[in-house]
Amino acid sequence: MPVLPEKAPPIAARTLSQRRLRCGRLTAVSGNGLAPFLDRRLERLAEKVVAGERLSFADGVVAATTNDLLGVGRLANFVRERLHGDAVYFNVNRHLNPTNVCVASCALCAFAEKYGGVRGWTYSVAEAVDAAARDVTPAVTELHIVGGLHPKLGVEYYEALFAALLARFPWVHLKALTMVEIDFLAQRAKLPVEEVVRRLVAAGLGSCPGGGAEIFAERVRAVICDHKTSGERWLEIARTVHRLGVKSNCTMLYGHIETAEERVDHLVRLRELQDATGGFQCFIPLAFHPAHTRLEHVAPSTGRLDLQTIALSRLMLDNIPHVKAYWIMLGAKAAQIALHFGADDLDGTVVDERITQAAGGEAGAGMARAELEHLIREAGRVAVERDTLYHPVTHSAPAAAG
Ligand code: SF4
Repeated sequence: MPVLPEKAPPIAARTLSQRRLRCGRLTAVSGNGLAPFLDRRLERLAEKVVAGERLSFADGVVAATTNDLLGVGRLANFVRERLHGDAVYFNVNRHLNPTNVCVASCALCAFAEKYGGVRGWTYSVAEAVDAAARDVTPAVTELHIVGGLHPKLGVEYYEALFAALLARFPWVHLKALTMVEIDFLAQRAKLPVEEVVRRLVAAGLGSCPGGGAEIFAERVRAVICDHKTSGERWLEIARTVHRLGVKSNCTMLYGHIETAEERVDHLVRLRELQDATGGFQCFIPLAFHPAHTRLEHVAPSTGRLDLQTIALSRLMLDNIPHVKAYWIMLGAKAAQIALHFGADDLDGTVVDERITQAAGGEAGAGMARAELEHLIREAGRVAVERDTLYHPVTHSAPAAAG
């Protein structure tokens, strides 16, 4: 059974002396304060990074476009070690998609099915609990719950679902419903977002995942997800969620038709909201998988873009504690390397992931805790199991089978 210390501080909180130590490591390596970079433009970024100064939009474009991948990775790794030392966080979780039926028709999506379509599924509350029960052991600390925008499922369905899940698995944290899903539920019920969120929290919602942000630039959204909540609206709903005391994650879908400038713009908009609310725990760059989508002609992301985007994110998002290398989308091997390019989190065991698999993801349907820990150790880092809110988790044997 996991033991979750109620008052343990978030793991991101480190002592000043630890930060100075890490800061000193780069200074020592770099002799006169700065190691040589293949791209001399990175020297100005390095001065700012060492001084703890915020990078500008223009700095971000340099980081996103430089050919000095190892240079930008070194800078991001410096920031990552200053924040977290060698720790790499992971959790023991299970995904649950109550439905793939969706009123929207995003070009980027291989997951959704129209109402009445042959590929559609929709769980009753009892079926959803049964599906979760196949894999939720006492070692599982989180259910990650997202799905399509089903025309017949309203707030009441999710209230009943959350209550039933918690009645069956009272130790599990429910991380559920993206800003897009919350927007849909509010519009469908003709209720303010605030009221919908309050009701969901009362039913057991613990926090929200970060999906649906895609790329905020409207030029891109018009092509990849024109039926979906706008970027401005996504940010507005996240602001409301945070104001009500609910933590969330945030994401960026990259590697399709967006430009480097649009990636940086996306990160700056998230950073601005985080300045105002402090509600984001973790940023997750999501590599686009084109298979079986209407964007199938787009070339898949490359290892270079994956690593550079992780590094860019760590450098620009100076106020978001964690950057995740989501192994399901990156693949386990690239995710492991990303732990030296700015990432400090690998997500979790992720049983029954369906969204990336529908788009041709080959990372597999789940990973045992021991495999995750092995990946982290082999990268020269220290594995730290966390709960959804980044508190350390300890297990009393023998429940920790994961
Ligand atoms: S991306 Fe989300 S909103 Fe768009 S079609 Fe797929 S499930 Fe629906």
